[in-house]
Amino acid sequence: MTEFIRKAEKVWEEFKDYVPTYDEVCEILEKEVVNIEDAAKLLNVEDKNSILLMASKAKKLTRENFGKVILLYAPLYISNYCQNGCVYCGFSCRKNYKREKLEFNEIENELRAMKEEGIDSVIILTGEDRIHSPVDYIEQACKIAANYMSEVSIEVYPLLEEEYRSLASAGVVGITIYQETYQKEDYKKLHPFGPKKDFEFRFKAVERALSAGFHEACVGPLLGLSHPKKDVLCTLLHAEYLLDRFPKAEISVSFPRVRSAGTDFVPKFSVSDKEFIKFLIVARLYLPRVGIVISTREDARLRDALIDVCITKMSAGSKTTVGGYVAQEEEKDAQFEVEDRRSVAEVVDSIIKKGLRPEFTNWVRGVGSL
Ligand code: SF4
Repeated sequence: MTEFIRKAEKVWEEFKDYVPTYDEVCEILEKEVVNIEDAAKLLNVEDKNSILLMASKAKKLTRENFGKVILLYAPLYISNYCQNGCVYCGFSCRKNYKREKLEFNEIENELRAMKEEGIDSVIILTGEDRIHSPVDYIEQACKIAANYMSEVSIEVYPLLEEEYRSLASAGVVGITIYQETYQKEDYKKLHPFGPKKDFEFRFKAVERALSAGFHEACVGPLLGLSHPKKDVLCTLLHAEYLLDRFPKAEISVSFPRVRSAGTDFVPKFSVSDKEFIKFLIVARLYLPRVGIVISTREDARLRDALIDVCITKMSAGSKTTVGGYVAQEEEKDAQFEVEDRRSVAEVVDSIIKKGLRPEFTNWVRGVGSL
């Protein structure tokens, strides 16, 4: 499976200094299929006119494959206990602040508050701690969530296949798991201790979940932790690999950028807005039928611009603290700072103003299976 990481590395080495001319960009965009070598070249484009041309093709592909629908979801942090020492994270066990875990009645209260805002698709999140947030706790939380929401996904620590199977039976349909970086040497330094040190176990989690009956998976890096263009290429090939292996599954990609979270971590690479936009456009050009997700880590202006080009799913009204929906707390003790603080209604309003259609779920439980 790690074959595609080697392939991305090889392609990048070959094309890292290749900046295509405007005419070459036109030629690539006229092709029926943009291959990975083309994608590597397009990642190097700097010229504004070329980027505008790429954006226009990306928009066309998005509308052809996804219509005008923008799916909305919100994250629900149920526990911030974590045994890992990820050097970039606000929930790292190196951080000295109050750990919290929601009781089941508090989870219900959070879900009610989210539902009142209009949310119908939730991602349940925990840190990585099998003692404070064991699988049966996550499973029960998901069962409760399934009573309130049409769509329940998880973004929790990597599990065994049989554990994913239990969660699928509890009503979970999707998994989001970021590899953080596909560059193994950097991964080692960024995850000095804790279960997350195991690159391979994390890497194979999506496959275990899809084999266990999950229907949706979202993968990606945390941009800035390692070489961003190499991580983008790896993500494109990872998504393609998953599509080949699980043709009935709905695969999506996301490219969150590292944000401050009260740590003194300085990312190795910074990714400008211009680069970030280009990465998403290249993702759409290479993967016309794959969903592209953006979170509230990005600001309202950028998110609104990108839903017009390539985004198919976005979070709205997010709280990244444990118990944040009831308490209406902002970023105190959050995993990362939220940039787009608009309410769900405000996000819906701006989607409609763009002539697009906000949807709160694309999944109806009990209809069909893989
Ligand atoms: S990124 Fe996840 S696993 Fe790492 S410290 Fe933060 S919560 Fe824990």
